[in-house]
Amino acid sequence: MSILIDLQDRNWMKDSDLKQLISSDLPGIPIYCGEPNKKLPSIVMAIVIKNLDQNTLRKLPNLRLIQKVGAGVENMISNCNLPKHIKVCRMSSEIQAKEMAEYCLAEVLAYQRNIREYFNNQSLKIWKQRQPSIVKEKSVSILGLGLIGMEIAQTLKNFGFTVFGWSKTAKAQSNFTNYTGIDGLITVVSNADYVISVLPETQETKDLLSLNILRKFKPGSVLINVGRGSVINEEDLLHVLSEGILSGATLDVFQQEPLPNEHPFWTHPKIVITPHVSGWNVEDAIETIPLNYYKLIKNEPLLFEIDQKRGY
Ligand code: NDP
Repeated sequence: MSILIDLQDRNWMKDSDLKQLISSDLPGIPIYCGEPNKKLPSIVMAIVIKNLDQNTLRKLPNLRLIQKVGAGVENMISNCNLPKHIKVCRMSSEIQAKEMAEYCLAEVLAYQRNIREYFNNQSLKIWKQRQPSIVKEKSVSILGLGLIGMEIAQTLKNFGFTVFGWSKTAKAQSNFTNYTGIDGLITVVSNADYVISVLPETQETKDLLSLNILRKFKPGSVLINVGRGSVINEEDLLHVLSEGILSGATLDVFQQEPLPNEHPFWTHPKIVITPHVSGWNVEDAIETIPLNYYKLIKNEPLLFEIDQKRGY
């Protein structure tokens, strides 16, 4: 019973490097790398970043588990040709959650202190002072309170911001106020100076932030998206930026990645773009791979298995 690694993302990690990382915990288990060029009936687990296309799936007749390296699994869940008996698992990395919290704090502070304006003014030799915003007078709403959202919320709370949270199910144990449902969403977006989305892509979250909700944002607020691009209706975002409802947006994720050359976001004066880098390192979560392999073989409950109906 063997394993296939088919990451198709050499920029992040080569298949052979991941093989080296996990081999010592999987002694004697054959690990194949790259897209298979023939049927491989021994493969029971495939490790991927993006997805497995139909052609590859056909070559893995005994596949039982797709293990995503990372957190977002929308490509696998929306693949309606995925046979029901194939399970999907993701990773959950504390290192990555901390990185994403750092990114969000850095962005919020850049707005608080007008850093980008000074950067632009320097190139024009403009000496113009602006009063900084006061942290304790500002509030931040976090959409999505999983491992990452909770880390972001806690980091901003510790820094002195008022924090609100929004999730699908109510959170009993948190030291900030959190909400659920559409009414709750409207409450958190209309009360926040910064709204940070770290929602997964599901049927329910696609286009969630479209005109009717974006127009409920607090005037002059800022939207930061580190979850998934499909959560925001990109055309509607441009509308509310031009209407002045939002004063800015920082986007790490997009409906289409890489962001196409001709996309209006690239040159928009109120949009900051980063190329899906807010969370990068997941080395603390790599052990999920060997652990899940042995759990699969022993028919034990898997770590971080996706509820395919819920979509995350
Ligand atoms: P989790 O699955 O742990 O958390 C998801 C959160 O979203 C939960 O709090 C969940 O609510 C909430 N949620 C899901 N659907 C809804 C809904 N319909 N309404 C309200 N809340 C909802 O995920 P993680 O925190 O680990 O990761 C979140 C996402 O971040 C990933 O799915 C991925 O897309 C993205 N990501 C981006 C990275 C980047 O570099 N930009 C890196 C890593 C992840 P509940 O708690 O009630 O279940």
